[in-house]
Amino acid sequence: MSGPDAVHRLEDPLAFARAGGSRSGRLAMAALPRLQDRLAGTDGMVSYTLRGSLDQRQRPLLELEIAGVPQMRCDRCLARLDFPLKLASRVLLAEPGAGLPEDADDPETPEWIEAGQELDLQELVEDEILLGLPYSVRHGDGKCGDWACERGSGGKISPFSALASLLGPEQASKD
Ligand SMILES: [Zn+2]
Repeated sequence: MSGPDAVHRLEDPLAFARAGGSRSGRLAMAALPRLQDRLAGTDGMVSYTLRGSLDQRQRPLLELEIAGVPQMRCDRCLARLDFPLKLASRVLLAEPGAGLPEDADDPETPEWIEAGQELDLQELVEDEILLGLPYSVRHGDGKCGDWACERGSGGKISPFSALASLLGPEQASKD
């Protein structure tokens, strides 16, 4: 396979795990569609490293590390907040068609995924980021921008002033 997406696809993940393979890559934040709702901006990249191995019970395992600085929005002032993200997760690979093992619900066991002929690493990375992002982020105490402080307490901005400018000068001055 060729093309820009080929690099983020892993062929035969079971063989990759058994052979102790290693793969790294970088993805643009803008290339992760399901993440966009959570982001204040799409600049930047996220890097990942995938390592294959067998766990203590000789089960094929993938370990995924993700690092990046997504641009999120502060819950308090709504301004941008660069959130340093570092994630490490593990998934066990189930043989295709074999179904998930009985201990799949055991909280001590890493998540299982069924190994297909290939694994879409972009989708896996996006899944893990969605799971790993905190529900809400805020700047540290007193660190919210001045812009927010002005709007928060002192100068009130009436929603009607914005409406007036939308209506245009003629209609806005009618009252
Ligand atoms: Zn803030």
